[in-house]
Amino acid sequence: MKVSVKNNLFLAVCICFLGCSPSTNKKSESSEQKAYQGPIIDMHLHALEENELSPEPMAMCTPLSTIVQHFDPQNDFGDVFWGKAANPDCENPYWSPVTYEEYVERLSNQVEKYKITAITSGSLPATKKLMGHFPDQFIRGIQFRINRDNIPVDSLQSLVETEGLKVLGEISNQYGGIAPNDPKMFPYYALAEEMDVPVLLHMGSGLPGTPLFLNPEYQVAHSNPLLLEEVLKSYPKMRISIAHYGEPFIDELIAMMYHYPQIYVDLGGIQWCYPREYFYQSHLKKLVDAGFGKRIMFGSDMIIWPELIEESIAIINDADFLTYEQKADIFYNNAARFLRLPKD
Ligand SMILES: [Zn+2]
Repeated sequence: MKVSVKNNLFLAVCICFLGCSPSTNKKSESSEQKAYQGPIIDMHLHALEENELSPEPMAMCTPLSTIVQHFDPQNDFGDVFWGKAANPDCENPYWSPVTYEEYVERLSNQVEKYKITAITSGSLPATKKLMGHFPDQFIRGIQFRINRDNIPVDSLQSLVETEGLKVLGEISNQYGGIAPNDPKMFPYYALAEEMDVPVLLHMGSGLPGTPLFLNPEYQVAHSNPLLLEEVLKSYPKMRISIAHYGEPFIDELIAMMYHYPQIYVDLGGIQWCYPREYFYQSHLKKLVDAGFGKRIMFGSDMIIWPELIEESIAIINDADFLTYEQKADIFYNNAARFLRLPKD
């Protein structure tokens, strides 16, 4: 997801387990219904500076795909979208905090309630400030885009060495029309591989209508995981997670995860972008059924609505085709393995 500013407003199965014996079914039912209780790693949490918050509360309705259900191109899409953010249609919208203190307090409530460790990405000042509030819980990443941010490779190297940068990402090149296999990215991939720093690469949807108002250069086609093939052949030792899992290119993702077993994905907020049944049946269940439950990581894509973390957690916990163990993998175990967190 992408954060932006306009007019001073901040934006931003029942599983039947075919083939199981009746006794196995009975055992599975109880574990499926149970909500995961352990610690959570959020691979996708954005850090903001105070001036990125809207002075007026902004609404968020989920699922995001239904916010603007139809659009007449004679109108201005930005006017339509921001109008919904000011006057939401849904019954219980989330409202953004208007001060940094409120933002931190509401975020802190989520972090404590759900025992969250988070990869936080944003500008260098934004991540530094937020890390100061959550020194033991957050892991420092960097929001990074070729051209816009102009951070040379050697600068990133020194940030890793001296500023506690642990993750290269979220890399948001897609918003600038730069493909995952753009040669300009190769020196950065080489650095990540050489320094063994994990890469989080945005591949997937932004806000609805993104190319119409926020980022004209955004290209949907760059979500396609097949675009990573050349990159993975060139940098086979690189740890990489596809942020937003290249949605909705699920079949392409499955083909890539099958052939390149080093690929991890994070859910990146897509769980609240679409109606639940579609997300479950067409995305999450397909990935798990295909055998990739050990490489799916939780990600809220929290930007300015802290309680979206809670909704994101509930959506995974409510997926009754997941066992408790599969939920534990998605919420914690897979990310701990990907990040090579020290074992307690
Ligand atoms: Zn993203």
